[in-house]
Amino acid sequence: MDTRTGLPVVGMVGGGQLARMTHQAAISLGLSLRVLAAGENESAGLVASDVVRGHHTDLAALRAFAGTVDVVTFDHEHVPGQHLRALEAEGVVLRPGPSALAFAQNKLLMRERLAAQGIPGPAFVEVTAPDDVTAFAEKHAWPVVLKAASGGYDGKGVWLVGSQDEATSLVRELLDAGTPLLVEERVEMRRELSALVARSPFGQGSAWPVVETVQKDGINTEVLAPAPGLTAAKTALAQELALRVADELGVVGVLAVELFETETGLLVNELAMRPHNSGHWTMDGSRTSQFEQHLRAVLDYPLGVTEPLSPTVMANILGAPETPATSPDERLHHLFARFPDVRVHLYGKSERPGRKLGHVNVLGPITDDTRKRARLAAHWLSHAEWLDGYRAH
Ligand code: ADP
Repeated sequence: MDTRTGLPVVGMVGGGQLARMTHQAAISLGLSLRVLAAGENESAGLVASDVVRGHHTDLAALRAFAGTVDVVTFDHEHVPGQHLRALEAEGVVLRPGPSALAFAQNKLLMRERLAAQGIPGPAFVEVTAPDDVTAFAEKHAWPVVLKAASGGYDGKGVWLVGSQDEATSLVRELLDAGTPLLVEERVEMRRELSALVARSPFGQGSAWPVVETVQKDGINTEVLAPAPGLTAAKTALAQELALRVADELGVVGVLAVELFETETGLLVNELAMRPHNSGHWTMDGSRTSQFEQHLRAVLDYPLGVTEPLSPTVMANILGAPETPATSPDERLHHLFARFPDVRVHLYGKSERPGRKLGHVNVLGPITDDTRKRARLAAHWLSHAEWLDGYRAH
């Protein structure tokens, strides 16, 4: 308990943009997020006053941090499972807990568990030798999708494999490097969706509208909230599925269930047990943002309403191949001059090619025009270039 405020102290492991935006929501609730940050100048460390330096793989650092907070939650899924279980055994309140987090940390465990619960997903099998991939592909079809069971993000750790030769060399190389692997059928999909929900320890659940996520080179670039043309029945199905996963795995906090929409239905791709890129639109487009909801859930407060205020297009601001000469200050200035309604969320990160530097939310009907404005704004903020040739002067 923080004796100055009489409110509990929430500790978040990881100092990235999700911690930064959770801190932003914490401020409104009278809280101040305490952050365990591995590096200097991390996104959350620039704005939170209560930052502890320490690495998320260092049990002693985690233990010391946990000893100063009422509840520990996470900005990423990279804390080793054995550390989480050790902390839990010592009485640390972890939300979500290790038994739930295991399924967000390991894709093979997740696939096995969801299959056992009858939740639809792609066909898969564990890979311990190149032959496993070949046998799987002969049963299904080439190409197949090879995945690192743990440690991947933004498409790193996902490989489309087209032939036995390709599989043999890649699988050998990865297994030699100690990467645990699984292989999945390549799903023919119409599009990707995300069902974002939250669950509290009390057992309350809430669901936001299901969104469409657009990716480029494995990185999410755009979110359409709600997913255009998704029927009420499919929306309800996706929401119920996500709430069921949250309940059955005992998730606390926000859970993102990434889905593939196919000709015949919905398949689960993966799970994230924290605020998620597909929920950034909620900061402006929903009555309760995913960051506030995550805090409410981990503190076991009643959850907020998740009704949308408006349809919203979110576009990620991804670092340009070369940092533009036009300063970030000047870019913002020109952005606001052209698009006064665009909601900007910058993460305070240094610019690197492809790095997620921030996002924009544009409220309005999901039309080509709204999408175009979001895309133009996001590209301008990182590249200092208007994709439509617009000239300010
Ligand atoms: P990451 O954890 O890096 O986000 P994912 O497992 O979500 O990796 O895969 C990244 C992207 O690769 C997905 O968003 C999807 O576009 C594609 N993908 C993943 N699995 C399959 C699959 N079985 N079939 C077809 N595409 C897939």
